[in-house]
Amino acid sequence: MHNDKEQQFNEHLKIITTTAANDLVEQKGNLSPFDNRKNNDVLSPLNGFPLTITHKFNKDEIRMKIKNAFEMHGLNKTPFEFAVTPTSMIGEQVESSNFNMLAQDTVNNISLVYPLISPSGSISEGVSPEELLIIVVPGIKNIIWKQMSWMVVASVLFTILIFTAFFMTLKALLKQKKLSEIKSDFINNMTHEFKTPLATISLAVDALKNEKVMQDRNKTEYFTGIIKEENKRMNKQVETILQAALLDKQQIQLNLKTLHAHDLINSAINNIKLPVEEKQGKLDISFEASNDLIVADEVHFINLVNNLLDNAVKYSKDNLTIKLCTQNINSQFRIKIEDNGIGMNKETVHRIFEKFYRAHTGNLHNVKGFGLGLSYVKTIVNAHHGKIKVESTLGKGSCFTIDMPQKI
Ligand code: ADP
Repeated sequence: MHNDKEQQFNEHLKIITTTAANDLVEQKGNLSPFDNRKNNDVLSPLNGFPLTITHKFNKDEIRMKIKNAFEMHGLNKTPFEFAVTPTSMIGEQVESSNFNMLAQDTVNNISLVYPLISPSGSISEGVSPEELLIIVVPGIKNIIWKQMSWMVVASVLFTILIFTAFFMTLKALLKQKKLSEIKSDFINNMTHEFKTPLATISLAVDALKNEKVMQDRNKTEYFTGIIKEENKRMNKQVETILQAALLDKQQIQLNLKTLHAHDLINSAINNIKLPVEEKQGKLDISFEASNDLIVADEVHFINLVNNLLDNAVKYSKDNLTIKLCTQNINSQFRIKIEDNGIGMNKETVHRIFEKFYRAHTGNLHNVKGFGLGLSYVKTIVNAHHGKIKVESTLGKGSCFTIDMPQKI
């Protein structure tokens, strides 16, 4: 590109030199050999041949003509030096002050030479001595780079723009892909979650239709109990999805009251006792906080502790132990829920509060869920102006710490 530009610039300079030379020659040609305006030295033998440019124009006039040519071609800021030099014995040389110095550096400066010959048919054709117009433009490379600088800047900007657009499109595409994966995961999970209780209910109803069962009161109670349990389970799933939908619309309305946190935590623990027993796990509770008064929404607070305890059971290994402790730290009420379950890797820890996120490693697919529980927990903690923190080691267990602002 630089070479093209240099060639283009050289062509331009050639035209400028030709224009300037023609301008000089035109007026030279109009002179009669005896019309010497420069001085009245008619006695000089050379006055018979006065028709040289250097006789006709002084240095400044020549400079003006060249400058005009440059301006005509839109290069008014281009620096130049010049010389008009005779090719024969007759005439004298006129040159601008730095001409000699600059003309020698042919690497950085460009020199253009043009013969000044009277136009054919003019009065001085073939009579006048010949001269050469030499124009030197210094720092040609700099001039070209300067001319190109805006192009370079524009192309860099354009490249940046294209790259940005490309990456944004790529990012949007990846996001779309992730969303569609999340969507299909969610639908799979949901279908699974509802299919099991529905199948159980259907079996229980079939059993109830049996004559023998109908007559056995114990069996009837057993099967209706199953139906009730499964119904509760389905209700819970629907609740979870509805909660998520509510969070989406930012419709969370807190019914804030000053409450004893230990009471609320105890009711959440009651809900989890049975599943812990089923897994032959242990619950290790220590209420160390002397002041357990918090301003919170009763239902949402119990739900959030429930969700954390639920996960501790869901993502457990053998010998499940859940430690729950409370503390008063920096006028905050702290709840720590620690488990010795499967733990999480760094990426999972980073993303667990995202809606619909579920870790896809290990045998997690055995554990049912929508990936909504922790996003709900986070939203509720935030709505209470609290903070939640997670520490986890893959294979060892996880620890969730919640700090709630406290009314003292
Ligand atoms: P769900 O349990 O329905 O998948 P959650 O939002 O409650 O959704 O949890 C998101 C993900 O975080 C889970 O799928 C699981 O991978 C991980 N996770 C949450 N709690 C624990 C925990 N106590 N131990 C290990 N992994 C956990």
